[in-house]
Amino acid sequence: MSRAESLYRLQLLDSELDRARKRLSEIEILLAGNPALEHTRAEAARAEKALRLASAELKSLELDAQALDDKIAGEEQRLYSGAIRNPKEMLDLQHELDVLKQRRVALDEQLLAAMEQVEQLRADELRCRQALAQAERNFADDSAHLRAERDKLKVAVEGHLEQREALCRSISARDLDLYAAIRAKKPNGVAVALIKAGACSQCGETPSSQLVQQAHTGAALAICSNCGRILYAQ
Ligand SMILES: [Zn+2]
Repeated sequence: MSRAESLYRLQLLDSELDRARKRLSEIEILLAGNPALEHTRAEAARAEKALRLASAELKSLELDAQALDDKIAGEEQRLYSGAIRNPKEMLDLQHELDVLKQRRVALDEQLLAAMEQVEQLRADELRCRQALAQAERNFADDSAHLRAERDKLKVAVEGHLEQREALCRSISARDLDLYAAIRAKKPNGVAVALIKAGACSQCGETPSSQLVQQAHTGAALAICSNCGRILYAQ
């Protein structure tokens, strides 16, 4: 294997490792949490709280109505029992009963509105709860797929690292240093460029025929005069 070919193989492994590691970190982020799921969870909690508050309000109105009914029944019984003989007292009691009954009518309207509100909120809460259950199922399914993908990638990374180690033993320290220095400078991490159709596949520069020959036979390393990468021709 020529020097350039060894470095090219190293490049293929490193590019594969870069891709795998990038995907692994994406997977970790996806597994850590899902904004859509969190949003659905918050909505469900809000709906549940709104229903709870409205139900408590309805219950309180029902108790008020019950108390008022009891009071009206008591006062009516007193009025019609014949125990009160004083006309002024009877008139006062009659007036008080009228006021209580008016209040009862107003309370009925409030009760009706509160019941409608609870009904509406109960439907909302059910819808949110179902949406949350679905979102949780989806997240669990997605997570299972992601974990399987992660396990596969980890095995692949282990394999690549072993191959890399073996390959590096056949490359001189000087070539490895050069490769690492070029790779560190390139945003895409590519230090070795293949010559395709007579041009550097990374930058498109056309190297001289002497350089192409050098990239082929590889006694010395050929460097692209434009992008500075090590050239390799298959
Ligand atoms: Zn180039």
